[in-house]
Amino acid sequence: MSLGADVARLVVGLLIGMIVPRLPLLFFTRFINMERNLTPHPDPIPVGIPLIQRLLLMRRIHLMCWIVASLPLILGLLIIKSSPEPFALGMVAGVSWFVISRAIPQDPNSGFGILPLSLIRDINNLREPETVCCKRQLLQWEVRSIRCRHCRSITLNIPRPDLGRIRSDGLLIGSLRILLMDGRSPFPHDSVVTQGVEFLSKVTEEE
Ligand SMILES: [Zn+2]
Repeated sequence: MSLGADVARLVVGLLIGMIVPRLPLLFFTRFINMERNLTPHPDPIPVGIPLIQRLLLMRRIHLMCWIVASLPLILGLLIIKSSPEPFALGMVAGVSWFVISRAIPQDPNSGFGILPLSLIRDINNLREPETVCCKRQLLQWEVRSIRCRHCRSITLNIPRPDLGRIRSDGLLIGSLRILLMDGRSPFPHDSVVTQGVEFLSKVTEEE
């Protein structure tokens, strides 16, 4: 067989290995209408029980991706065992990329996974916040952080990951963004900024 055909089969296998594990993330909540208690994408979501429920559901969907990933991996390994098929090789490489991208934490301090339980716990605690920013405190998760709708003060400086709402940017572009970012937010974690602010507030307290 020609080299070109082998390369084409390798690429197709690679794409399948990369896309199949993320299928639950693409379709699970968007296929059936589950928007009932949430604001439409990309509007901010108020911090409340519907948000916490959605975060727990998204966490389960992220775990489901691991189970789905095992299918192309096992199939690819079984084929490779009998013959060095480029398609199977690509599939195994694609799933390996999924495993590597998930195994490396985005922020080593915030725990593993795209939605670590510690983060969901922190957000749940914000339903009854210890500090009050203003008289009409209304916390909501915007694209870049959780902040008060009225006084705009930031409570938690964490960008919002994909929460499985039907996307405003359309099925094709929306799906492509989710595939590329793996459901993470395209914005980086501003932990350095938060630490800087904490440090500054400590300094001013000491003074
Ligand atoms: Zn406020």
